[in-house]
Amino acid sequence: MKEITAAEFEKEVLNGGNVVLDFYSSECPPCEALAPKFELLSNIYGDDIKFLKIFRQNNRELSNQLGISSSPTLVFFKNGKEVGNRLSGGVKKSEIMSVLDTLISEQRAIELKTQFKHIHYDYDVVILGGGPAGLVAGIYLAQAKIKSVIIDPSLPGGQVSTTHLVSNYPGFIEPINGYMLSHNMSEQAKKAGVDFKVAVDITSIDLENKTVVVDGFETYKAKKILITTGASPRFLGVEGEKEYKGHGISYCATCDAKYFHDKEVVIIGGGNTAVEESEFISKFASKITMIHQFDKLTSNKDAQEKLFSNNKINVLFNSEPRKFQKVGDKMVVTYENLESKELNKIETDGVFVFVGMKPNLDLISNLNMEIDQWGYIKTDEDMHTSIKDVFAAGDVISKKYRQITTAVGDGTIASIVIAKELET
Ligand SMILES: Cc1cc2nc3c(=O)[nH]c(=O)nc-3n(C[C@H](O)[C@H](O)[C@H](O)COP(=O)(O)OP(=O)(O)OC[C@H]3O[C@@H](n4cnc5c(N)ncnc54)[C@H](O)[C@@H]3O)c2cc1C
Repeated sequence: MKEITAAEFEKEVLNGGNVVLDFYSSECPPCEALAPKFELLSNIYGDDIKFLKIFRQNNRELSNQLGISSSPTLVFFKNGKEVGNRLSGGVKKSEIMSVLDTLISEQRAIELKTQFKHIHYDYDVVILGGGPAGLVAGIYLAQAKIKSVIIDPSLPGGQVSTTHLVSNYPGFIEPINGYMLSHNMSEQAKKAGVDFKVAVDITSIDLENKTVVVDGFETYKAKKILITTGASPRFLGVEGEKEYKGHGISYCATCDAKYFHDKEVVIIGGGNTAVEESEFISKFASKITMIHQFDKLTSNKDAQEKLFSNNKINVLFNSEPRKFQKVGDKMVVTYENLESKELNKIETDGVFVFVGMKPNLDLISNLNMEIDQWGYIKTDEDMHTSIKDVFAAGDVISKKYRQITTAVGDGTIASIVIAKELET
């Protein structure tokens, strides 16, 4: 692995051979998460592919010329020509390997895989999930000198990192950007001394044996496991939803509202998230039609008042979507009026779906623990689950209110109880 400058780009990159070039920056958490993976892969693939790094801030002209707009970005070259997809953000090892394998022969790719050695790590606590609940637990455990690691298939931050503004987390007089709040939390956890293993593929989770395998060959064995895997948006299960997810249908206003400047959108839902996010989307969109299954919105009164005084938003009550289609650039939503049973169509520029959340437990295959009727993990007031030495906290547990403050509260309780139990 070698560090280069823009002046060496032609000699090192364009003059033939297989190359992967990492454009990285300082103070860049995803760059820090990528660095050990890049180094490990360079040790395995290094005889066949040149692994190069270039510091973006000092090589801006070249970065701009190549259209590099985020850090880290991995760019792959074969015989001086760029090949494969660029990878950026929270890059997983498996994603890098799938491009590296295209640069070499199939036989060689198989041969190199045999060089991965199984690594075993022992920890006191494995925290599954780096959202607010997991991060606060990491802070408390590290401060109690308990060896802990946060494992997350994404970058740390959880749902907060995709939230536009947070105005109800104490300590901030003005609303704070969700990404900054989660960034501060994870930097605080890092500083406290908790280890991070993020943007990884989780191969298996064995709660009975307190063992988590990541990226196929790294085993994390712990005395206790804390599950803080949070929750994700629920899908409608309506025809066309899967097909157009990410291509006309979005589940994240913060991520996508900005692309609907002066455009029309349809919002499905009528609870707190749908109503609050419609207010945010109305800053961009020219017209919003909300489709809601009941005859009243179910969000809090304040948010409803704001919505009804917003003349860009119109609500279709007692209605449910039945089909999503794309016609040219437009989305067509077919919806049913539940009273008249009549089917109608709306043509729109984009659709946002906010119909609630579901616990992130898909990766925990042997979920042999008590859960509630909606699939959330049942805990006692100390955050014990029904499996010995397995705790859960945050949005993933069975409870009434899911907020950053409640997630942080649960994570705090879990970590204090874990610390006490480990002491005895
Ligand atoms: C759009 C939106 C706006 C919101 N606005 C606010 C607000 O203004 N104020 C407020 O208080 N709350 C708000 N919330 C709710 C708040 O974000 C959540 O209550 C809080 O983030 C829950 O924290 P958590 O740590 O339990 O889970 P999450 O934040 O969901 O984090 C869970 C983490 O676990 C990881 N994970 C998933 N599966 C696995 C696995 N198998 N193994 C390991 N890790 C895994 C995920 O990648 C994620 O990083 C909002 C939520 C959304 C979606």
